[in-house]
Amino acid sequence: MMQSTIYQHLTTLCEKIGPRPIGSAPNRAAADYIQQVFAAAGLQTERQEFSCVEWRLDEVQLELDGEVLLAAANTFSPPCTVAGPIALLSTLRQLESADLAQKIVLLCGELATGPLAPLNSPIYLPEEHKKLGELLRAQSPLAVVMISPEMDAPVVMIDDWTLPIPSVTVSAAVGRMLLNQSGQPLKLTMRSQRDPGASCNVIGHVDRQAGKSIVVCAHYDTKFGTPGAFDNGSGVAALLALAQVLPARVRGVDLEFIAFSGEEYNGLGDVEYLRRFGLEPVRFGEMRNERAPAFNHIQAAINIDGVGLLSGTNTIALVNESVALQQAVTDALQNYLAISQVAPWPASNHYTFYAHGVPCIVLGNNGGADLVHRPTDSIEWVSAPKIEETVQLVIELVAAITLD
Ligand SMILES: [Zn+2]
Repeated sequence: MMQSTIYQHLTTLCEKIGPRPIGSAPNRAAADYIQQVFAAAGLQTERQEFSCVEWRLDEVQLELDGEVLLAAANTFSPPCTVAGPIALLSTLRQLESADLAQKIVLLCGELATGPLAPLNSPIYLPEEHKKLGELLRAQSPLAVVMISPEMDAPVVMIDDWTLPIPSVTVSAAVGRMLLNQSGQPLKLTMRSQRDPGASCNVIGHVDRQAGKSIVVCAHYDTKFGTPGAFDNGSGVAALLALAQVLPARVRGVDLEFIAFSGEEYNGLGDVEYLRRFGLEPVRFGEMRNERAPAFNHIQAAINIDGVGLLSGTNTIALVNESVALQQAVTDALQNYLAISQVAPWPASNHYTFYAHGVPCIVLGNNGGADLVHRPTDSIEWVSAPKIEETVQLVIELVAAITLD
């Protein structure tokens, strides 16, 4: 019964609706669906609207001497039709002293070890990324070309909507070829549009007047171009299943079910959620885990992000946990031998709560690194029974928390 409900939530989100990035019509369709499920479960629903960017891509083409190369537009890239010689750069010092006017920059080496953090990121912005972002803006090349870590697939490496320079990512195979073409003419044509947009968190409460609450959350947005089944259709399917069964099992405490949006892009939904409590996001590295008085009512926050992967192991992690909470998890795990307790990891919505001192329970899965944010993250990779396993564990843990 529960497995078929979970499966239905998954197919609706990942197949009927599909990729649901911030600002898009499918993102709003997913919000509507979630709100309907919350309301049908008898919850008091609320939307927390926030503004974001709406980006559309119609066409991208990268050419070397008339030959078309495999390239992906980096998310939020502005449109362009530009042509110029390749300038190859591998260090910040080269970038500082180069003359890049009328050139197309190919970044490699220490400038391209992974995705570039957006310059306006409120949470994650390492010093080298900040410097690279600032230098690119100051040098203002015609366009930027990044190289994907994957041989045959261009995995997008920039998603900064404040970057005024058009950019693409090429596969590692194309990148390797281009590294021998310094000075040769590249041409980039990008037909895209960047407009003001909107998205929202969807929240369902059991009883707002209860005084204390337990948060259960999952993000429903995806990166562009991925069905987002594992990341994070799976977590939302679990969240919706919990919204349907948990309220009948608790008394005297509010359950606050939060479907966050914008987790994939700057944590925009988290920023909005915090703003309504008069709180600010905490930067990585500046965390003190002090309990914010505005969050005193939250007994625990349970976040579900990427569970039920067929080929992986479901995991649970605790942050800011009391001895009693760790004991409750240890006891519950006696009946869940297929779930492993792992060290806490920061990068998801629970960070919003644990950076402000709230005890957190995080459900995830230790696989899927080659799947997340890719077009291949489809429902064939996730299993309704394995998602249900995490749902049942959460039900047990909520019962244990509300007992004491
Ligand atoms: Zn996720």
